[in-house]
Amino acid sequence: RMKDALAARSEDDLRSPICCILGHVDVGKTLLLDKIRQTNVQAGEAGGITQQIGATYFPAEAIVKKTASLSDKGKMNIKVPGLLIIDTPGHESFTNLRSRGSSLCDIAILVVDIMHGLEPQTLESLRLLRDRKASFIVALNKVDRMYGWLPRPNGPFRASLKVQPQATQDEFAMRVARTITEFAEQGLNAELYYNNKKDVRKVVSLVPVSAVTGEGIPDLLGLLVGLTQKHMTNSLMYLSELACTVLEVKAIEGLGMTIDVVLSNGVLHEGDRIVLCGLDGAIVTTVRALLTPQPMRELRIKSAYVHHKSIKAAMGIKICAPDLEKAIAGSRLLVVGPDDDEESLMEEVMSDIATLHKMVKKSPRGVWVQASTLGSLEALLEFLSVSKVPVFDISIGPVHKKDVTRASTMLEKAPDMAVMLCFDVKVEKEAQDLADEVGVKIFKADIIYHLFDAYQAHAASIVEQNKKESAPQAVFPCKLKMVGSDAVFRNRDPLVIGVDVVEGQLHQGTPVCVVRSNPETNERKIISLGKVTSMRVNDKPMKVVRKGDTNSGVSICIECASHETPKTFGRHFDHTDTIYSLLSRASIDVLKKHFLGDVSKDDLRLIILLKSVLGIP
Ligand code: GDP
Repeated sequence: RMKDALAARSEDDLRSPICCILGHVDVGKTLLLDKIRQTNVQAGEAGGITQQIGATYFPAEAIVKKTASLSDKGKMNIKVPGLLIIDTPGHESFTNLRSRGSSLCDIAILVVDIMHGLEPQTLESLRLLRDRKASFIVALNKVDRMYGWLPRPNGPFRASLKVQPQATQDEFAMRVARTITEFAEQGLNAELYYNNKKDVRKVVSLVPVSAVTGEGIPDLLGLLVGLTQKHMTNSLMYLSELACTVLEVKAIEGLGMTIDVVLSNGVLHEGDRIVLCGLDGAIVTTVRALLTPQPMRELRIKSAYVHHKSIKAAMGIKICAPDLEKAIAGSRLLVVGPDDDEESLMEEVMSDIATLHKMVKKSPRGVWVQASTLGSLEALLEFLSVSKVPVFDISIGPVHKKDVTRASTMLEKAPDMAVMLCFDVKVEKEAQDLADEVGVKIFKADIIYHLFDAYQAHAASIVEQNKKESAPQAVFPCKLKMVGSDAVFRNRDPLVIGVDVVEGQLHQGTPVCVVRSNPETNERKIISLGKVTSMRVNDKPMKVVRKGDTNSGVSICIECASHETPKTFGRHFDHTDTIYSLLSRASIDVLKKHFLGDVSKDDLRLIILLKSVLGIP
């Protein structure tokens, strides 16, 4: 078999590259896809463009025709049989088009609205593309929206640009420059594709297009094909080895549960025994039917699908087979060959999930992560790992009560982590009820960064709440000196004196003390003065005064608690005493736990000093 595989490898037998379209919502992904499909159809020549399951196939001839306008030197020399463009634009298909952690998408089109530049989901797409090391080009869409644009439908972009009024050309140059700067902010070099002399894998190529007028579409297709055959011939060489991925699991009336797959390499046959990931372990089943959509012209035929005895890559196919109810999108699909051991293939296919479990370091304190597909789970975990959010455990599929129960163990260990980040999954009602009852937070979203934002906001609100609750126990360190012997406005409880903050920060509510030692016995005596109940700087009430905030001194009022002996200036202390905030072991712990963000390095040093002054272990 190895020999066959090698024999089949040749530059004359390349498979079609697979292309995904990504980008922010409303940038024009759908319309762009339609436009690419439609130009030929309108011209009365479908040119062999065929609708597959979840993908559209563009044969080489169609691409040659569409790119003919690009140069007068003759037609493009196309070595690949065609181009397979995945129809569902967005992250979902890209993330599921995976195999063992790498992408099966050979090249991606990242669509950016030239009027808006890089948007939040564009950044998310960029991250996905980078994580999976996928090559991509940028379609700078909606050029027709620039002021004064004169459309030249379906033509090459540079010819269009040339005939634009000067002001429009200037606007274009300005918008391109801005986009290039925005890419630079993401650490990427970018250039208009016709100025890009470098490898697209080093410098991103920008292709200006309009999905409405079709301008720039020839450029886009030409670049896609040119790049894939120039840089990827090796990975595009046809192999008899099978590579197939489940993109969607779907119930179809009359067919039952089906899977939509992309066959990126090899051949599939009716009757093949296949192995894929399931929610409750590997699924082994037999292909009952291989289906592709009926061509548009054949509408009089009743069935919506064409049956195939066998199908060769690259193709988007619907597979009917028994026992697909628990199939997981994003799973690899393996075929059991005559010499293969079914058991080991089952293990092999499930190892993808095992790998994800390993990727999660199973922090004893961490959030729960659940997603609908292997691809999205993987992408979410990659993101959380970069964002340094610890993950406690993961699961695939709808959220059940048992998932909530397991996630709820975090309530004791780390209540702020008692959170379930659920990506594109259904939450069963009972599960939600249980979560509400025990206090587990469930966040649901279809966009990774929305989940992350929700989690961050939640974590921040918990931090705030903890601060509020523990504020009375927290004591910030400070060192005060009276501004002089006459800075006494009231010499008995409540004391009112004038001080300078020599070190640290003085907060309203801070307990303060002086320390005196008996020179003979060297015994230390801590004299509590009470709490600072109010303070004023130049007659203005303050809540906090930090060292260096003011030159004019702070007038503070100190009150004793009812159980304490009221202190008197001149008897218990005088202007030569240094006044310290009265820390305790417990107050230091609270400060470190909830207010670490509010203390400086100097404050931490002062805490160490105060510990020794006050004799705290
Ligand atoms: P998607 O969310 O990325 O799939 O975006 P759509 O394809 O649904 O397009 C979003 C909106 O932008 C629609 O109203 C389109 O008509 C419009 N649109 C898309 N491409 C272009 C374009 O090139 N020029 C103009 N003027 N409008 C466009």
